[in-house]
Amino acid sequence: MGEGGGQVLRSSLTLSLCLSKPFRIDNIRKGRKPPGLLHQHRAAVTAAAQMGEAEVSGNELGSLELEFIPQSIRPGKYKFNIGTAGSTILVLQTVLPALLTAPALSRLVLDGGTHNPSAPSFEFLKLAFLPLINQMGPRVTARLVRPGFYPTGGGRIEVTVEPSEELRPLTLDKRGSIREIWAEALVAKLPKHIGQRELSVVAGELKLKPEQLSLRQLSSARGAGNVIYVVVRSQRITEVFVGVGKKGLRAETVAQRVLSRVQDYLRSDAAVAKRLADQLLLPLTAAGGVRFTTLEPTCHTRTNLRVIEAFMQTSISCCRLSESSWQIGWDKSGEARS
Ligand code: ATP
Repeated sequence: MGEGGGQVLRSSLTLSLCLSKPFRIDNIRKGRKPPGLLHQHRAAVTAAAQMGEAEVSGNELGSLELEFIPQSIRPGKYKFNIGTAGSTILVLQTVLPALLTAPALSRLVLDGGTHNPSAPSFEFLKLAFLPLINQMGPRVTARLVRPGFYPTGGGRIEVTVEPSEELRPLTLDKRGSIREIWAEALVAKLPKHIGQRELSVVAGELKLKPEQLSLRQLSSARGAGNVIYVVVRSQRITEVFVGVGKKGLRAETVAQRVLSRVQDYLRSDAAVAKRLADQLLLPLTAAGGVRFTTLEPTCHTRTNLRVIEAFMQTSISCCRLSESSWQIGWDKSGEARS
């Protein structure tokens, strides 16, 4: 379905838990090389299975098929170890929507990657994603115990979920005026000049002053790593744009890529940027109403919409409003909203 990636599986697990609906999936990650379940996906299945007391078959490395039959949601204390540098945050996002309205508090400890190139980084989770979840009623807090970068991993996050009885749907039509923009570079076991060079690219283009910039050295990481992120805090929403450094990729290039995503966002008047858009769909669906403006929907967002539509047997509207903004809308009466 859609892009044929791991998100089809993770979204199915989330929806299955939230709706108490069993599912079977074939051709898992058929669009990726190698296809099938990797450690990170298996960890998501294991986490979802424990929380949903589910009967599971097919959760093996490389598996192309999986059957998942959930029972009831069991909040509580959990510890999951991905075993590689695979993203802890993607595993968290898989189980979080079901815990938001569970009958008791949950505490999760997740070991693995915390700053992955193709997943939300810890700062994105903390500054962009969780504040919106908390506006819906629950109180979710996350702590970075130790950063984990690819390929060493070894990171840890701790998350506490204080549920609420109900989730309030959010409407994010406008971002409102911009209150502040700042940038931070993180370096672990690498020279400081990497972060300094990234910050100077971003500061030059966005005209940031020294007090809007910071550089942090992370001494507790087990392996080397580098991240640059830019925070755009507006009246209604905080967006975070992250670039993860990679061996062989110049610091200036890492910063330039982040910058171009920030500039796309600033040029548009949409409230939600591309990454956050696909990640908000599931919690908002759990709240019974999705409505926000965003940049051009990615293949990832479109795939997620299709998975949600299949589980909910509904149709979600996704329409273009202007050159650079789209609106996504649906509510639990089953009507696409526009
Ligand atoms: P795979 O099949 O390899 O598991 P996937 O389809 O699950 O891949 P991706 O398409 O790489 O995974 O995206 C995973 C998730 O990570 C998406 O929800 C995406 O929004 C999020 N993501 C990726 N990069 C960033 C970033 N820089 N900032 C925030 N979120 C990100």
